[in-house]
Amino acid sequence: MDYLRELYQEVIIDHGKNPRNTGILEHPTAIQKGYNPLCGDKVTLFVALEHERIKDLKFVGQGCAISMASLSLMTETLIGKTILEAEKIFQEFHESITDKTHVPDETLLAKTFILLGVKEYPARVKCATLGWHTLIAALKHDESEHSEISTE
Ligand code: ZN
Repeated sequence: MDYLRELYQEVIIDHGKNPRNTGILEHPTAIQKGYNPLCGDKVTLFVALEHERIKDLKFVGQGCAISMASLSLMTETLIGKTILEAEKIFQEFHESITDKTHVPDETLLAKTFILLGVKEYPARVKCATLGWHTLIAALKHDESEHSEISTE
C-alpha cells in the first residue's frame, strides 16, 4: 500500500512538474477559463470537438502541482473520447473524489484513477477537479469569462 502511494505520488509530481498537452490550440471550438480561488489555480482550456468527439485538448495553466497534474492526466485520458464518454468519466471521477463510500471504476477512470488519493485531503479536492469543471463548462458552451469554481 505504501509502495502504491509512493508510486502515485511520483506520477502526480511528474505530471505536476511536466504537464502534458500544455499550450494553445490553433483552431479550438471552445475556450474556457477556470479558477480555483481557494488555492489560486488558474487554467485556460482549449477544446477541439469534431463530430461529438474530443479531437484535441490543450491548456495553459498556473497553479499547484495537484491542479496541473490533474489537468495533464485528464487531457491524456479524454483526448479521443466522445462528449458522452467524457461526461461519464467526469461523473465517475467527481463521485469518486467527493464520496468516500463510492467504489471507483478504475477501468473507466484510467490514468485519472491515480488522482483519487487526493480525497484524503479535502482542501485539495478543488485543485484536482478544477480542470474537469472547466472542461464540462466548455462542453456546455458556457461563455462566461471566468467560470469560478465555487462550492457545490
Ligand atoms: Zn491547487
